[in-house]
Amino acid sequence: MDQKKRDDLLLAIKEEVIACQKCGLYKTRILPVVGQGNHSAQIMFIGEAPGANEDKTGVPFCGSAGQILNQLLASVGIKREDVYIANILKDRPPGNREPAPDEISACTPYLLRQIAIIEPKIIATLGNYATHFILEKFGVPNSRLGISQLRGQKFAVSDPLTKKPYIIIPLYHPAVAIYNRQQLDTLKNDFKIIGEQLK
Ligand code: SF4
Repeated sequence: MDQKKRDDLLLAIKEEVIACQKCGLYKTRILPVVGQGNHSAQIMFIGEAPGANEDKTGVPFCGSAGQILNQLLASVGIKREDVYIANILKDRPPGNREPAPDEISACTPYLLRQIAIIEPKIIATLGNYATHFILEKFGVPNSRLGISQLRGQKFAVSDPLTKKPYIIIPLYHPAVAIYNRQQLDTLKNDFKIIGEQLK
C-alpha cells in the first residue's frame, strides 16, 4: 500500500473514533487517543488504554510510562517517530480502571484496521491486556498465560485474511518499571530482541 493510501485510511479511522459512541467510554473521556507515529512503521507498540495525561493530550504514552518507553526505545537505537503506538482502547476508562470485555470488543476493530493498514513487521504488545487480545486474535496457543510467562518470546503469525506475516513480541507494560529497577532491566533485555529482529 502506498503512503498516501495509508495516510487517508488512518485519517478515516481517526474521524470515526472521534465520532464513536460504540461503548460508554466516550461519555467520560476528554480526548480520544487514536494512535501516533509513522504510518509505514516496521514496529507497532500496543498498550492497554489511555491514562490521565493521554486523555488530556490525545497522545499515547506521554506520561511516566511513556518516558520509560522512550528510554527503552533509545536503548536499542529506535526513534519514537519511526514507530507507531496505539492502545486496545481509544478512550480512557474512568479512574484508570481495567478495560471491560464489552469495551475491548467494541473498540478493537479500529486497532485491527490500523495494523492491517500499517502492516508492521513486529507487533510489540505491552502488558497483559494487549498481549492476550493480540495473541488470541492471531491464533497463538496458550495466549491466556500471564505476561511474566509470555514476555520476551517471539510468535510468528500471519493475518488470517491478508496472509501478511507478523512477529508478535509480548513485553511488560512500561508502567511496571516506573518504581521497579528489576522490571526495567527485564524490559531493557526484552527490547534487545526487538532491536535484533529489526536488523
Ligand atoms: S473506547 Fe473505542 S469503542 Fe468505546 S467509544 Fe471510544 S472509540 Fe468508541
